[in-house]
Amino acid sequence: MAINSYEENNFRLASPEFGAIDSDIEISLRPKTLDEYIGQEKVKDNLDIYMQAALNRSEPLDHVLLYGPPGLGKTTLAGIIANTMGTQIRITSGPAIEKPGDLAALLTNLNEGDILFIDEIHRLSRSVEEVLYPAMEDNAIDIIIGKGPSARSIRLDLQPFTLVAATTRAGQLSAPLRDRFGVVLRLELYNPQELAQIVKRSSAILGVDIDDEGALEIASRSRGTPRIANRLLRRARDFAQVIGSGTITLNDAQTALKRMDIDELGLDNIDRLILTTMINNYGGGPVGLDTIAAAIGEESVTIEDVYEPYLMQIGFLARTPRGRTVTKAAYTHLGLSVPRTADNLQRSLF
Ligand code: ADP
Repeated sequence: MAINSYEENNFRLASPEFGAIDSDIEISLRPKTLDEYIGQEKVKDNLDIYMQAALNRSEPLDHVLLYGPPGLGKTTLAGIIANTMGTQIRITSGPAIEKPGDLAALLTNLNEGDILFIDEIHRLSRSVEEVLYPAMEDNAIDIIIGKGPSARSIRLDLQPFTLVAATTRAGQLSAPLRDRFGVVLRLELYNPQELAQIVKRSSAILGVDIDDEGALEIASRSRGTPRIANRLLRRARDFAQVIGSGTITLNDAQTALKRMDIDELGLDNIDRLILTTMINNYGGGPVGLDTIAAAIGEESVTIEDVYEPYLMQIGFLARTPRGRTVTKAAYTHLGLSVPRTADNLQRSLF
């Protein structure tokens, strides 16, 4: 019975954006210090220096912008920053802050040195964003009191604070907002070795045994994303407990992943649907993102943020000025014969 429900939900398992499921477990798996945070070496090295320097000067850290696909560890890093700086963290998100007054209330409640974490900052409305400018630059906000001719603006001072913002699409941030971040860090997809370390660390926390091959198998099918690696680990644990030996072996991992319809490269039903729709309906492209989205019934932003980065990283999808194109490697992976056009495109691209 349990197995059926995994199969019903399998397209969600490989998608990093559905953070709500298992969220308590996710919190317990979050590294709390930079030492526990695996991979992203450049980001860690730089952040470590900035934090030590700010601590030595007894100043709050400069405002930090973290960007990269979902599930790579942006929220985790915000928590690590608060932990290292020894301050409180308030967590909110762009869509949750509807009015300028909501943000003003959040800002005026911050204590000295607090971290304000705004996830999906690219979704802030322009009027809310404008409250942030003086807050980030001068530790102050301007509030309009009254209406009509008697309205006047008063300036409220804020405690010095650090804004840590996360976005999957830095390109959508307005230039004035982007320019106000002193530290901009880009997170990259993880390689299988790093993800295997994350899987081993998580399995130790969850109290489940896993061997090296089992960990690497899960890691190499996790689309470069720790959140997916942790989720696949939890499902593989279920299979190992119910129909395996209790220790997650290569065999258990493979059985679990097969049941979840996740192939050896980590592609799930939606990835395959994107590629086959492009091939069957549009001759492999070039085809526009909105057309693909409409054809498969997904949001364009979900395809762009969640599916495309990995498909592009493994060289299955290419962006051309005229739209997206399926590459020869994708045809081969799907067991389809490569048409001449894809062959030509491949040659002209590489
Ligand atoms: P984002 O905010 O970028 O969507 P999260 O910070 O919520 O991603 O990370 C998702 C999960 O992945 C976390 O619960 C954490 O357990 C795990 N994780 C992310 N990055 C790392 C890392 N570098 N090392 C270990 N675990 C990580």
